Amino acid sequence: MKITRKDFLRLSGLGVLAAGAARAFEAARATGETAWRAGGGTKSSGTQKKQYAMAIDLRKCRQHPGCDLCMKACRAAHNVPVIPDPRHEVKWIWNAPFAEVFPIQQSAYTQRNYTGSPLPVLCNHCDQPPCVEVCPTGATWKRPEDGIVMMDWHRCIGCKYCMVACPYEARSFNFVDPRAFLEHIHPDFPTRSMGVVEKCDFCAERLAADKPPACAEACPANAIAFGDLADPGSPVSLALGSSFSIRRKPELGTGPNIYYLV
Ligand code: SF4
Repeated sequence: MKITRKDFLRLSGLGVLAAGAARAFEAARATGETAWRAGGGTKSSGTQKKQYAMAIDLRKCRQHPGCDLCMKACRAAHNVPVIPDPRHEVKWIWNAPFAEVFPIQQSAYTQRNYTGSPLPVLCNHCDQPPCVEVCPTGATWKRPEDGIVMMDWHRCIGCKYCMVACPYEARSFNFVDPRAFLEHIHPDFPTRSMGVVEKCDFCAERLAADKPPACAEACPANAIAFGDLADPGSPVSLALGSSFSIRRKPELGTGPNIYYLV
């Protein structure tokens, strides 16, 4: 088969992306959980003071089939567009089937239980985020003070390395102008432009104003507990201490900070 110059460049580009993602996974795996988590959940070393996390109680979620209030609240708070073409979809928090979110946890029993009640999924604000490792411009980083994985859209050059590196498909690329799909614009949150990547920011702007994440506040079942894992009295610590929880793909060593109570 004859390979054209265009094919060669395309394949080379994919190779670079794959190599970047592989390096990021290697770094995550080598480091494992963060020092304070390894120290039994205490801040044993390093400069990180807190680690914000979320515990989503799927037992409560299931009592409200079809509910999407958390997603609507997130979209309204962050000017996330609803784009009909699924190829251009922008997602911060979205619904996905249990079998897709937890492919190795599924069984005939769990599948039956969760049928018709997909799970909310979002960025995991990982302890060792591979997306941060591969970003060439520093447009995404993990905040040392609270562990939130942030984005600076002004620094994003749209290379999509972070999208390839993220094993949770938690990042979206703006293939079209998102502003054209916003019915209402929240004046206190910036809109984005075509050509940049975006994702959940754990409502960093609301936390700064002493408000909970929009999704947690909007949940009618009170199914989303949020807070600092280093604080044993925080809602998320109390929720995790009283129920069994699972995380997405923990075997990758990224240290997801979204927990699901089952
Ligand atoms: Fe990065 Fe994906 Fe982890 Fe979010 S879930 S911190 S985007 S690797």
